[in-house]
Amino acid sequence: MSKLPTLSQRHIDPRNYPPGVAYMDGQYLPMQEAKLSVLDYGFLHSDATYDVVHVWKGAFFRLDDHMNRFFRGIEELNMSIPYDQAQVVEILHNCVALSELQNAYVEFICTRGTSPTFSRDPRDAENRFIAFAIPFGSVANKEQMEHGLHLAVTDVLRIPPSSVDPTIKNYHWLDMVKGLYAAYDQGADTAVLVDGKGNVSEGPGFNVFAIRDGVVSTPDTSVLLGITRQTIFDICVRLGIQCRTKDVSVTDLKTADEVFVTSTAGGVMPVTKIDGQPVGSGVLGALSDTILAKYWEMHDDDTLRDVVLYPEAVE
Ligand code: PLP
Repeated sequence: MSKLPTLSQRHIDPRNYPPGVAYMDGQYLPMQEAKLSVLDYGFLHSDATYDVVHVWKGAFFRLDDHMNRFFRGIEELNMSIPYDQAQVVEILHNCVALSELQNAYVEFICTRGTSPTFSRDPRDAENRFIAFAIPFGSVANKEQMEHGLHLAVTDVLRIPPSSVDPTIKNYHWLDMVKGLYAAYDQGADTAVLVDGKGNVSEGPGFNVFAIRDGVVSTPDTSVLLGITRQTIFDICVRLGIQCRTKDVSVTDLKTADEVFVTSTAGGVMPVTKIDGQPVGSGVLGALSDTILAKYWEMHDDDTLRDVVLYPEAVE
């Protein structure tokens, strides 16, 4: 028998990671040092919940809402973490402050974790909390923001709510990834999935909105209750725009005057083409434009902001 190989120290190439700071297992770490056991059920079974909040111009936007959604998910999935909401808030602030990022994408995760016996019983696992702050990212790039996204309405079914509750933010994304490849095959930028009853649901990382005759509509079931989605509802109230949650059929979407998608990763993102055909007149819609401008204006609202204390302010 040949000699046993020696155990190696793993070399991490920092070029494979965006800059940023993570918190895991009680420590703040440079992004490339934040490593997870391959035995974590978050990785092996996608058994995890998470949330993403953004920091814009040095302040978190709607952090309380993200916190509430995250802690509800933890409870619904029978998980627990050794931190209360105030402590998680402090950890997120520290990740952003240490990263010194003024505009950041901040993700916080609870995985089922690991069990010393590799038990199949999820109750035996010790749940793990992880958080990280990296540079702000968007579903739509600069060019797509300027000209609008090309969306493909795929025939891929979003995993049904009776299987996985979409209101608990989750990593069941193989349907989304399948949708993305279907979209790329037809030259589109991204995909929207369907609910199997003739309606659209949501896409990889975003909710979908259709506007017809000045009325804004978005699906009410089979979707994550996005915090950006909630911000659109608030904007519509403030601007006196009629907005409703209802089934949005594939036909409703394709024949809408304007379409946009929403995400913490990018905000309000216009869609100007669906399945190769122009939406309305094929250019950025006026009402979508107004809503988009109001969305970023709301980032100056002190009631929705949590200012980050960066190192120079702390000293
Ligand atoms: N739907 C899905 C599946 C998502 O993953 C996301 C965000 O990542 C959204 C919708 C939009 O939610 P939010 O506005 O809270 O970012």
